[in-house]
Amino acid sequence: MLMDMQENVSLSGYSTMRLGGKSDYFVEARTKEDLVAAAEWADEHAVPLRVIGGGSNIIWRDEGFKGLLVANKIPGFEKINEDHISVTYTFGAGENWDETVRKTAEMGLYGIECLSAIPGTVGATPVQNVGAYGQDISQTMVSLEAYDCVEKKFVTLHGGDCDFGYRTSRFKGADNGRFLISSVALKLQKNPPAALWSNSLKDYLETHNITERDPMTFRNAIIAIRAAKLPDPAVVANTGSFFANPIISDAELARIWVNFPDMPAWEVGKDSQKLSAGWMIEAAGFKGYSDPETGMATWKNHALVIVNEHAESTGDLMKFQQKIKDKVEELFGVRLEQEPELLP
Ligand SMILES: Cc1cc2nc3c(=O)[nH]c(=O)nc-3n(C[C@H](O)[C@H](O)[C@H](O)COP(=O)(O)OP(=O)(O)OC[C@H]3O[C@@H](n4cnc5c(N)ncnc54)[C@H](O)[C@@H]3O)c2cc1C
Repeated sequence: MLMDMQENVSLSGYSTMRLGGKSDYFVEARTKEDLVAAAEWADEHAVPLRVIGGGSNIIWRDEGFKGLLVANKIPGFEKINEDHISVTYTFGAGENWDETVRKTAEMGLYGIECLSAIPGTVGATPVQNVGAYGQDISQTMVSLEAYDCVEKKFVTLHGGDCDFGYRTSRFKGADNGRFLISSVALKLQKNPPAALWSNSLKDYLETHNITERDPMTFRNAIIAIRAAKLPDPAVVANTGSFFANPIISDAELARIWVNFPDMPAWEVGKDSQKLSAGWMIEAAGFKGYSDPETGMATWKNHALVIVNEHAESTGDLMKFQQKIKDKVEELFGVRLEQEPELLP
C-alpha cells in the first residue's frame, strides 16, 4: 500500500464538471519520489495510472477508473538562468497556474500574462499547449522534466520534443499518459512585446483608456475580459470551452460562406481556416440553453461553455453535447471535436 492511499474515491471531486464514477485507488504526489512510487505500485498491481492536476480539463466516465489516480501537488519555484532580456524559472508541476502567472507578472515579466485566470496546474499546461488571447505555453516553455513510464526514468524534454500544436501535444496524442510531468521551465521576457498579442486585449485597453503596457496591466485586462464571458468553476461546474475551434480548408469555408456569409474565420496557415465553435453553437440556437432532459446547459455569456446545472451522470453530459454536435453538423457540415479529455 502507498502512503495515504485511499480506495473507492469519487471522481466528481477530480473534475470541475463534477461528474463521473469512482477511482479504485487515489493518492497525492508531493515529490518526484512519490511519482515513482505510484508508477511502480501501478506496475506491480497491473493497474493503469493517471496523473492529473486540478481536473479542469477532464471528464470522467460513469464507469469510473479501475486504476490508480494521482493528484500532482509537487511544489517548486527556482530561477535557473538570467540575461539582460530574459529570465528562466522552473516551476513545480503541482503549482497553481494562475498563482504562477500572478507571481511572474508582479515581477514585471512578460510571456504568460495573457494566460491569466486559466484554472489548473503548471504541469498540465504543456499537455494541451494551453493558450488564450494570442499566447500559448509552447512560446515560453524551454523544457519540462517528467518520469517516463516506458523508460522507467526521469527525462528532460525540450519544446521541440513535444509536438505542440493548437491545443495539443504528444502528451495528448501518441504519448497520452506516458510522461508524469514533475516540473516545467519557462523563459520569460523583461521587455514588452513589439505588438499586443490579441485584438480583444487591444480593444479592451483602448475602450478603457489604459495606456500602461506592463504585465500586471495586461493580466488585469485579461481577467476582466474573461470574467465577463466565463463561469468560475468554483461556483458553476464546467470545464471551460467544451469544443475546440475547428480548422477547415479554404474550399470548405467558401462552401459555408454561401449560406452563412457573416461566419467569422481566421487564416491560420496555408489552406487552413480557423472557425469559431462558439459562433456556430450560438447560431445553432444553443446560447444560454438549459436542457430539461439532461440537466446540462450552455453558458449564458458564452455558448462554447457547457455547464452542469443538475445533471446526474456523465451520460447526461454526453447526450447533451451530442445534441449540439449534431445540430452544428447539420447546419454547417462541420464536426465539432471535444476539448476536455474523456477518461479513462
Ligand atoms: C473556466 C475554464 C476556462 C478555461 N480556459 C482555458 C483557456 O483559455 N485555454 C486553455 O488552453 N484551457 C482552458 N481551460 C482548460 C484547463 O483549465 C486547462 O487545460 C488546464 O491546463 C488544465 O489543468 P489541470 O491541472 O486542471 O489539468 P487536468 O484537467 O487535471 O488534466 C488535464 C490533462 O493533463 C494531464 N496532466 C495533468 N497534470 C499532469 C502531469 N503533472 N503530468 C502528466 N500529465 C498531466 C491529465 O492526465 C489530463 O490528461 C479552461 C477550463 C475552465 C474550467
